[in-house]
Amino acid sequence: MDHGLRRTRLASRLVELRADAFLLTRLPNVRYLTGFTGSNGQVLLTPGDAVFFTDGRYTEQARYEVPDLERVTYLDGFLEPVVQAAERLGVGRLGFESEGVTFGTYQDLRAAAKGMELVPVGGEVERLRWVKDVNELAALDRAQGATDDAFVAIVARLRDGVTERELAFELEAEMRRAGAERSAFDTIVAFGADAAEPHHEPTDRALARGDVVKMDFGALVDGYHADMTRTVAFGEPPGELRDVHDLVRKAQQAGIDAVHAGATGAEVDAAARSVIEDAGHGEHFTHGLGHGVGLEIHEGPRLRRGSDDALPAGAVVTVEPGVYLPGVGGVRIEDMVEVTNDGCRVLPRSGRDLFPA
Ligand code: ZN
Ligand code: ZN
Repeated sequence: MDHGLRRTRLASRLVELRADAFLLTRLPNVRYLTGFTGSNGQVLLTPGDAVFFTDGRYTEQARYEVPDLERVTYLDGFLEPVVQAAERLGVGRLGFESEGVTFGTYQDLRAAAKGMELVPVGGEVERLRWVKDVNELAALDRAQGATDDAFVAIVARLRDGVTERELAFELEAEMRRAGAERSAFDTIVAFGADAAEPHHEPTDRALARGDVVKMDFGALVDGYHADMTRTVAFGEPPGELRDVHDLVRKAQQAGIDAVHAGATGAEVDAAARSVIEDAGHGEHFTHGLGHGVGLEIHEGPRLRRGSDDALPAGAVVTVEPGVYLPGVGGVRIEDMVEVTNDGCRVLPRSGRDLFPA
């Protein structure tokens, strides 16, 4: 992965941002720009230089993960060493990530960076990250592959009496067996009426004939997150939910069909949402249609009402409509797709049927 190229791209934005240097503190951005995978690291970027900061736990790891940058190890927080480096590099206007520091850290930075002007910068690296390069796409495909494998294994293991928590644990074990570092997020498993909650926390509820099983899960591979939802039947579910499953599938297909480079998030959301609204279930689709996914499970571009995010080719987004009927159950179907110039490529190979083969 060409981290140097990414840093050059970001540095070329400094003039427009009216900053001499940019301090990166959000870990996914630090990883994107350097390759560092540890839990604490910062980068100071100028048009000609980049300095990497971390603490003593990661000195060795940084030596091989970030071999191309000047590295500083600190004992007591990054503020002092960052300010020293900025002074050495002649920085007058220091950009910082407005969404990457707490108010307390901002105050400390202001006190430490005497004589420097602090310039809040929002979303710059995040925007670069929308478009995935070939290595990132390959990592997402590997993450999706482990997720698909786990789905096949778990469908074969649905059984009377298994609990939501047990099934969530088994899904996570299957993903690891298939190559995941861990789960990309807390696995959602919801049986029967529990599926009416979009983000249900698994409980000790036992699976019974006639329940739907809604599973939202994904593998993490090389730092990249997969995100997939399937809703399947165990036995014969209520007829109402069979109809809703058909409807959500149609809506999802309409959303997928609307994805292409240049479409806005609002347009794609509307394509799926109108199918659900026309069927009289508009009020039961209570969230946005989807989101970008990559080094973070939720990133841009956003697919929802009011989103003027224009989808670029190479972005990977989820399309995940849902219909939730309180007291009855719910259906969500979610797939990651890669935006292309004339449409999109669906990443999962898992079937979407209510009754999987
Ligand atoms: Zn999901
Ligand atoms: Zn999602």
